[in-house]
Amino acid sequence: CGIMGYIGDRDTTKVILEGLAKHEYRGYDSAGIAVIKDNKISELRTIGRVSALAERVAKEHFTGDFGIGHTRWATHGGVTENNAHPHVSSDNRVVLVHNGIIENAREIRADLEAHGIKFHTETDTESAVQYLGYVYAGDPKAAIVKLTKRIRGAFALVIMFYDKPNEIWVARKGSPLVVGHAENEGFCASDPTALLEYTRDVWFMDDDEMAQITKEGCKFFDFNGAEHPKESMHLDWDA
Ligand code: GLU
Repeated sequence: CGIMGYIGDRDTTKVILEGLAKHEYRGYDSAGIAVIKDNKISELRTIGRVSALAERVAKEHFTGDFGIGHTRWATHGGVTENNAHPHVSSDNRVVLVHNGIIENAREIRADLEAHGIKFHTETDTESAVQYLGYVYAGDPKAAIVKLTKRIRGAFALVIMFYDKPNEIWVARKGSPLVVGHAENEGFCASDPTALLEYTRDVWFMDDDEMAQITKEGCKFFDFNGAEHPKESMHLDWDA
């Protein structure tokens, strides 16, 4: 039930694992992380604690240039390593994490299976990533616009595309998500306290809003893909 994403020059897996640990109070049953390096998506998932995930990250020297992490509170599909997020499209081009529920997942899955796409998990979330893999033609924003029109339900989605080495995309409807930026690095999280250590300048995502996070900055769009300006908020809480 927590998300952490990072793009920048720090140790990617360290930032993500520490961010996930700050979300543990929200409750969860499994955890996972995905990174991209040289246009290749890799992911590592486990049931149980974030500390168990951290041990595997260390043991397997798991690393990448930027990435996303997730703690799952299972709603659709059992608590298994295979159902833990992140989920990757069957064509290995898109990876995402999701908090919330996709209500029409069964219908989307049936549609995609009829087009020959193989599913690998029991989650509602997989319908979103397989759909993105199906429609993605090099333009992340266009693909996500299509996705937001196809899925119903509640979601905080954080998405990476294998051939976009400097982009993390987020979309929100009904589940919390905050984006942050500092010099040459970008973040996203479910809970802003996970960002306090790195930046105080954040944007709380609104419903029906998506964003592109790069090292240089963040851009905000509606679900039709139209960009709009958005003022950052300065957090002056104590960490
Ligand atoms: N509905 C998704 C699942 O069961 C996401 C759950 C969550 O918010 O952690 O995998």
